[in-house]
Amino acid sequence: MTKIKILITVIVLVAVYFGIQSWKSVENLEETTDGPYVFIENGKLIERKVEKGQIVEKELNKNAFEIEYKPDASVFSNISKIASLSDIHGQFDLAIEIMKNNKIIDENLNWNYGNGHFVIVGDIFDRGDKVNETLWFVYNLEKQAEKVGGKVHFLLGNHEFMILKNDDRYIHDKYVNVTKVLGKSYAELYGKNTVLGKWLRSKSTAVKINNSVFVHGGVSQEFLDHRKDFDLAEINEIMRSAIDMSKDEMKTKNIYEPYFKSNSLIWFRGYFYGDMKDEEVGSILKEIDSEHLVVGHCSNEEIVKLFDGKVYGVDSSIKKGEYGEILFIEQDNFSKGTKGGEKKKF
Ligand code: CA
Repeated sequence: MTKIKILITVIVLVAVYFGIQSWKSVENLEETTDGPYVFIENGKLIERKVEKGQIVEKELNKNAFEIEYKPDASVFSNISKIASLSDIHGQFDLAIEIMKNNKIIDENLNWNYGNGHFVIVGDIFDRGDKVNETLWFVYNLEKQAEKVGGKVHFLLGNHEFMILKNDDRYIHDKYVNVTKVLGKSYAELYGKNTVLGKWLRSKSTAVKINNSVFVHGGVSQEFLDHRKDFDLAEINEIMRSAIDMSKDEMKTKNIYEPYFKSNSLIWFRGYFYGDMKDEEVGSILKEIDSEHLVVGHCSNEEIVKLFDGKVYGVDSSIKKGEYGEILFIEQDNFSKGTKGGEKKKF
């Protein structure tokens, strides 16, 4: 093929791509409502919402939101009760229903789990159309929990990293409209000069509570082999620091392959697919000084117990918007709550 032909082919493909992109979303533009997004601009807090396809903007009081968020601790012990779910993927209404029926929140969506810890094992972003609602809900729930000695842990999954690192392939069509109205990329809506962006950049990727490690994908032997130890605070800091790094920068620092490829904490699927042996999982747990791993990322119809309870998979397909479950670890007993709030033993 001549250079001209290649050039024409490329131009046609690009034109078709952008044609599809604009056709895909422009239809319901005047019905699009979303937000708020709170931007930090010249020291001011500017709130922008989209209402019926129009920007509604106002300046907020300087104290309306914190603008610095301290990273959480990575290890917690002596926690009497823990609840966990994952992979909400914008299914706000279903997630709320599951949490309400299982008494994590009350009828008014307020914290109702006392001094318990509630762990969301990643992937609030992408697929569904109520991502922003879910994030603000978790943001507020976290504060309510802390007031009464409880705790919400929102761990970062692969989709959080994808969005923050500007990979918007999986956003709902609604957000294509939102980005058009606001004149910003989707990543910019959660950029480092936004309230939620700053909050997200303080989050951990993995946490150890009592004798369980919670992490979106899982801990692989390959990941451990790359490190001298499983220092969770250090690992979380590396993950945080990588959010605003380019791929080249990550490669130069030897972060890309171990922390962002298929054997990494956020992408690993080895407990579910492949042929890992019980002893291999056991040896990973020994190396990380834990008895259980609680992971999301691999979808099942319900919460699953694998490797004789060494691993619990809490991605119960909430992303489909129909059903989902919640894991409970109370006084070291594992059980699960159904969508309707019925407690079941494994
Ligand atoms: Ca995932």
